[in-house]
Amino acid sequence: MEPVIVIGAGLAGSEAAWQLAWRGFPVELREMKPAQMTPAHHTPWFGELVCSNSLRSDQLENAVGLLKEELRRMGSLILACADAHRVEAGGALAVDRHGFARSVTEKIRSHPLIRVAQGEVTALPPEGNVIVASGPLTSDPLAQAIRDFFPESHYLNFFDAAAPLVTFESVDMDSAFFASRYDRGTPDYINCPMTEEEYDAFWTELCAAREAEVHGFEDSGVFEGCMPVEVMARRGKQTLCYGPLKPRGLRDPKTGREPFAVVQLRRDNADGTIYNLVGFQTHLKWPEQKRVFSMIPALRNAEFVRYGVMHRNTYLDSPRLLDRYYRVKKQPRICFAGQITGVEGYVESTASGFLAAVELARRLEGRPPVDFPPETAVGALALYVSNESVTDFQPMNVNFGIIPPLGYRVKGKRNKNAELSRRALEALDGLDWR
Ligand SMILES: Cc1cc2nc3c(=O)[nH]c(=O)nc-3n(C[C@H](O)[C@H](O)[C@H](O)COP(=O)(O)OP(=O)(O)OC[C@H]3O[C@@H](n4cnc5c(N)ncnc54)[C@H](O)[C@@H]3O)c2cc1C
Repeated sequence: MEPVIVIGAGLAGSEAAWQLAWRGFPVELREMKPAQMTPAHHTPWFGELVCSNSLRSDQLENAVGLLKEELRRMGSLILACADAHRVEAGGALAVDRHGFARSVTEKIRSHPLIRVAQGEVTALPPEGNVIVASGPLTSDPLAQAIRDFFPESHYLNFFDAAAPLVTFESVDMDSAFFASRYDRGTPDYINCPMTEEEYDAFWTELCAAREAEVHGFEDSGVFEGCMPVEVMARRGKQTLCYGPLKPRGLRDPKTGREPFAVVQLRRDNADGTIYNLVGFQTHLKWPEQKRVFSMIPALRNAEFVRYGVMHRNTYLDSPRLLDRYYRVKKQPRICFAGQITGVEGYVESTASGFLAAVELARRLEGRPPVDFPPETAVGALALYVSNESVTDFQPMNVNFGIIPPLGYRVKGKRNKNAELSRRALEALDGLDWR
């Protein structure tokens, strides 16, 4: 049997390759790393996380928590590896990024039905079954080939930024304290408090700091969920204090009070030797990042092991091009998966790779597709991405707004969300998705 060609061994491509192989189909997984890296990838590993090490909430009252649980129940490779490399992060699923990506790579490389073909893909394969999962930073020749393949449509894009990483030993713990907000869960975050005077000085310098040049950024949007910290700061002096620097529920043990502002650091690896600055995605020039972020008292001597970067993030106008199985309407032998389809985020990209592969496997077996119902997060996301009535298509994180309402009243938002999740998991359990 001819192998299915999967282009890109990121989150979507690795998941898709694994699901196909698990169902007995040979796969050729084509990946250009390590010979050629995108501007945001740094390692040879598959399933590399380009920015945060958090896969966000792991609770069923949250839609991304539901999506994870659905993927777990259906045997997702990415979720299994993430669970195995979890680092403490309150109610979120955060991972040791290197341990996680290494384990994805080892699983893929040791599967007898997956052949890894290294090298940049520059054209869409002219025949056979293909899943394109080359991500938001698809290399230029392939991006051009995709453009040519869809002459009827524009590529859409926005900008995505990554946050810096610092070493734990360089954080001044005399000026910081471990805690979780409202003391919920274990005290996993390092909190760096600031007085009003310290915040004022920091905010002033942050607003005036020099940005790196990013071609085309001036006339394009940023994804609101991943806005550079300096762009958010310029919206107003208090904006950060209601956003990533929110002090609510974080009492400084030294003063017994909530500080004026708090920068939170989240553990980035299992050893706890590296931390990331939560919400500090940025595209300031690197020396400016060091100068301005070192004004945070606990980071005055911080050693930056990686600076924040910003990149154009490209995606298809999927509602006009793809069906609910992420297949190209005009040529269904080709599917797209991952962020390039307009799903936004690590877990969402994984989910689209999963669904595209399951559907392809069913087709190859001569079986009818599984129509994941809109009540499930996996199904709702695919239906959103392929919904022709959406005109101004924007990247979408999974959320309860794209899932049909319950149709009966449940008091309280958390209870209502928990009930939506219960309904979704019940629907999933009644479905033959194998
Ligand atoms: C700067 C930046 C920051 C981000 N921060 C976050 C974040 O904090 N949290 C979050 O959830 N999401 C974030 N994202 C979105 C993130 O990219 C996706 O969530 C996720 O990585 C997408 O998965 P994917 O499988 O679609 O693509 P990727 O994980 O990017 O995988 C694509 C793979 O395809 C390979 N490839 C590309 N072109 C070719 C080619 N021509 N031939 C062969 N191989 C190729 C790449 O090397 C890569 O391995 C960020 C994106 C960017 C650009």
